[in-house]
Amino acid sequence: MKAVVLGSGSYSGTPKPLCSCENCSRARINPALRRTRFSFYFEGILVDPSPDLHYHLERLNKKVEGVFITHAHFDHIAGFPELQVFKELDVYSHGQGVEMAKRLASLFLGGAAPDNREWRYHRLPFNEWVELEGMRVFHFRTVHRSIENSGGFVFELKGKRIAVTGDTGPEILGDKDALRAMEGADLLVAEMTHRESIPGVHLGVREAIALARKVGAGYTVFAHISHSNYTHEVLEKRLREAKIEGEVARDFTWIEV
Ligand SMILES: [Zn+2]
Ligand SMILES: [Zn+2]
Ligand SMILES: [Zn+2]
Repeated sequence: MKAVVLGSGSYSGTPKPLCSCENCSRARINPALRRTRFSFYFEGILVDPSPDLHYHLERLNKKVEGVFITHAHFDHIAGFPELQVFKELDVYSHGQGVEMAKRLASLFLGGAAPDNREWRYHRLPFNEWVELEGMRVFHFRTVHRSIENSGGFVFELKGKRIAVTGDTGPEILGDKDALRAMEGADLLVAEMTHRESIPGVHLGVREAIALARKVGAGYTVFAHISHSNYTHEVLEKRLREAKIEGEVARDFTWIEV
């Protein structure tokens, strides 16, 4: 099964306008170092319609059938109206995520589903396995300040398990339910926003690596990387030193699961 990190960056992307840090300066010269906002895709499933979704879909050139939204921060949901190119769509999130998606569709597309479109919205409960067509999904809650509801997902399909942390504070390291669902996943997509963790907000490098160790995934891809984090090669070195089976995502990093 193939999966792809469409966008590897955090809310501002890299380069961030007017920023002259090392990552931003380099990314202005080398397009391979740019980071668009986070989206992830596998088997017709999109996790988080980022504000860069048009750019992602145009290059991906594959059908989206299901959309899972981790939370309603703009860097994870603002691209939702871009999905109007798809006739049929199932949208999954907790209540706040579903309501925001509906609101964006109503504002920009004239209704919860645009004309001639069959879009269905589904609220997922937290911390329960839910059976969907062809797969099972577990939506766990994360601690992510400034928003009421935020979560991650574990998908089980075709005998494989894919876990996506969404945005999360380091509290996830003590969340038994989330850890149990993610444990031994074939692929873990973990956020690694900053150099140092911010409690209740985001993971830093050390805690993101600690999470990968705890989960013991077959392969871990680190994403949602801020321009203010270390450079790509320093982060890669940290993974090698920690003997983590995985990599730091760039935009359009493909993974064979
Ligand atoms: Zn984010
Ligand atoms: Zn910068
Ligand atoms: Zn967020």
